[in-house]
Amino acid sequence: MTILDSCMGTHVLVFPYPAQGHLIPTLDLTHQLATSGLTITILVTPKNLPLLNPILSKHPSIQTLILPFPSHNLIPPGAENAKDLPPNYTPIIAQALCQLYEPLLDWFKSHPSPPRIIISDILLGWTQTLACQLNIRNIVFSPSGAMALSVIYTLWTNLPKKDINDQVLLSSIPNCPTIRWENISSMYRNYIKKDDSLSKVWMDLFLGDMASWGLIFNSFSEMERVYLDHLKRQLGHDRVWAVGPLLPCNDKDTGACRPAERGGASSVSVEGVTTWLDKCKDHSVVYICFGSQAVLRNSQIAEIASGLEKSGVHFIWCVKEPTAAQGSGGSYGRIPSGFENRVAGRGLVIRGWVPQVVTLGHRAIGAFLTHCGWNSVLEGVVAGVPMLAWPMTADQFSDAFLLVNVLNVGITVCEGADTVPNSAELAKVFVKSVSENLVERTRAKQLSKAALDAIKDEGSSAKDFDCLVHHLVQTKL
Ligand code: UDP
Repeated sequence: MTILDSCMGTHVLVFPYPAQGHLIPTLDLTHQLATSGLTITILVTPKNLPLLNPILSKHPSIQTLILPFPSHNLIPPGAENAKDLPPNYTPIIAQALCQLYEPLLDWFKSHPSPPRIIISDILLGWTQTLACQLNIRNIVFSPSGAMALSVIYTLWTNLPKKDINDQVLLSSIPNCPTIRWENISSMYRNYIKKDDSLSKVWMDLFLGDMASWGLIFNSFSEMERVYLDHLKRQLGHDRVWAVGPLLPCNDKDTGACRPAERGGASSVSVEGVTTWLDKCKDHSVVYICFGSQAVLRNSQIAEIASGLEKSGVHFIWCVKEPTAAQGSGGSYGRIPSGFENRVAGRGLVIRGWVPQVVTLGHRAIGAFLTHCGWNSVLEGVVAGVPMLAWPMTADQFSDAFLLVNVLNVGITVCEGADTVPNSAELAKVFVKSVSENLVERTRAKQLSKAALDAIKDEGSSAKDFDCLVHHLVQTKL
């Protein structure tokens, strides 16, 4: 009997969190699970349904369960995807999604052969209670890294309860000897000690995650082994699987399952980007992009623009349009007038969505100025590109710490969503980052090889994925 045969009839419900940075790796994981022969139902909100078209056309057997995005008095009407909202809405969206508990329970009860396993995002920890009520298993998928989750879980399981020194607590996490309280996002720091309702939402979610039957990471053990082992010790079991990097390179069809229009329109086509890069020398271009959500203030954009002008380096810079809440023509997303003319020939400014994986994979890219979202981190690692870290929120601070202080493949350039960097300092870093003998580049290339080896047959992530599928198939309740 082949693995495909044994997977037949094992029905899994995949429940992604509706933000690009969560949905993209969840779809990559779903693609791998469907390729293994598992029966998949994926839960999707109506607005995100078109983003699933690529994966549904490749795997027509995947069923969709469409549930309306729950109403919530703090979420503007029509904004059901975190892309439409500032990042600090995350706990509010997570809280709203808890309202899907009852409709989901009804769906399970009326299904002729319901899933025996739920694979849910880390921000949906309440599915653990649902799984218990249904007497099935819940497995958490983390689109964040294992170091970030070690930090989050350590804080949330200890701080609200114990009178313990922050620094002592952080130093209990392996390989974090110098991580400081300031390296933790204020998004977590501010909530942690407050007795408010959103704190309670976070707390319940993370404790739900930790009680789940297993944890899947978009990571690989050569990069995060100590943290993966630390989590196994914390959780008291070893059902922690690192199956990443879950990237288009995992898919021999160049990632056809990723949503094509996942971030909306772009001012430059994929061919436009590669044709432009083809004319540049190896490792000569700085690529700048802050993920799918962050829109920079005009003051920050002005310093980056000035830094680029002063540095004389070649660059590709993705500038996101302000959200409806930020308003067009206001304090966000405006490039200084005349900038594009002044840098014509050596700079490409892209408004909207950059084909990031393709861009990073081009031989001309020399460095990546990133907000250190975990997907961007992994994409930079796979591409073997040194990273210029500017963490802004959430797990990005500990991701930056990992890149700069533990793996030595990055340089910190700025910290904080509201910080305005200095253009002269930026210019120096830009020049350094494309220099020939950059030590971070050598290490980035080594880490890239380890990442690609991990997902080959017999690689650590390929083995963890097989082990995960084996566990899913064995789940007889
Ligand atoms: N991304 C992209 N083009 C863009 C912006 C983002 O392809 O213009 C992709 C990027 O490749 C990554 C994801 O969107 O896969 C962003 O996830 P990440 O965790 O880096 O940051 P987030 O958007 O969650 O802050």
